[in-house]
Amino acid sequence: MHARVTETRWLTPTLVRVVLGGDDLAGFEVGPETDAYVNLALRPDGSPYDAVFDPAAVREEHPRETWPARRRYTVADWDAERHELSIDFVVHGDTGAAGRWAATAGPGDVLVWEGPSGGYRPDPAAEVHLLVGDESALPAIAASLRVLPPGARAVVRLLCDGPAHEVALESPGTLDLVWLHRRGDDGDVDLLAGAVRAADLPAAAAGRVQAFVHGEADEVRAVRRHLLADRGMARADMSCSPYWRRTMTDEAWRAVKRDFVAAMEADA
Ligand SMILES: Cc1cc2nc3c(=O)[nH]c(=O)nc-3n(C[C@H](O)[C@H](O)[C@H](O)COP(=O)(O)OP(=O)(O)OC[C@H]3O[C@@H](n4cnc5c(N)ncnc54)[C@H](O)[C@@H]3O)c2cc1C
Repeated sequence: MHARVTETRWLTPTLVRVVLGGDDLAGFEVGPETDAYVNLALRPDGSPYDAVFDPAAVREEHPRETWPARRRYTVADWDAERHELSIDFVVHGDTGAAGRWAATAGPGDVLVWEGPSGGYRPDPAAEVHLLVGDESALPAIAASLRVLPPGARAVVRLLCDGPAHEVALESPGTLDLVWLHRRGDDGDVDLLAGAVRAADLPAAAAGRVQAFVHGEADEVRAVRRHLLADRGMARADMSCSPYWRRTMTDEAWRAVKRDFVAAMEADA
């Protein structure tokens, strides 16, 4: 599937919203999951095929070095009536295929993807919703907060680079929201876990907490370990996904992700 960019908007100095629109989106559908994501296919510069392409056909017909880079991105917003799909990209310096593409994308540019898929939606029966992550998880966390039942209690811990990187979040729920700011040292990896450790959450026996913890791999793992070992949370109530890994491109990360997730599953 593909669509064209209609607009880009910087939400923070490092987060850009890319809006795609038009008739190309007529067949696009998103399920009830609030972490729905698409699998982007970004063609390298100078590729020998058109901007609109079929990723499977490219893999069959062209040499590997010209294949598109694959990257997963959350559906930040889908307006089915207006046929408008929004994706929020973290722009993290000059590296990477997707962040760099988004930083310079403009009206008319084509984006190709497969999907969507997803696996989480806040359960209205939960006593407390715990939502934890960095900027890469912000689109899914924002979408989850928007669908909470009125008054539902949500504990939200978000990591970003500083006050200018915070975004306004809307929810019918009652939020205990804290933004954490990276300091640029080795302690950054523990900021989210430390904040969750200090959060006021009901004990396992006193109320069901449903957790969504997505973002940088080591940070997600540290939070997950705490929830299992110290809070006694049930695995079934936890959605923990290491979206990306410090110092690794997505290709390098995908090559070791299965082993990392297996080790993470064995924690606690
Ligand atoms: C299901 C799913 C949904 C996701 N949704 C989103 C989303 O909505 N928005 C979003 O921005 N990301 C999202 N991500 C994360 C995104 O796919 C990765 O961050 C991806 O590596 C970015 O690709 P890139 O080409 O820009 O950088 P890459 O080429 O993969 O990496 C280049 C360098 O940048 C670093 N890097 C990668 N991501 C970040 C980051 N977020 N912050 C700082 N440094 C980074 C890498 O460690 C590497 O050193 C999602 C991931 C998954 C699995």
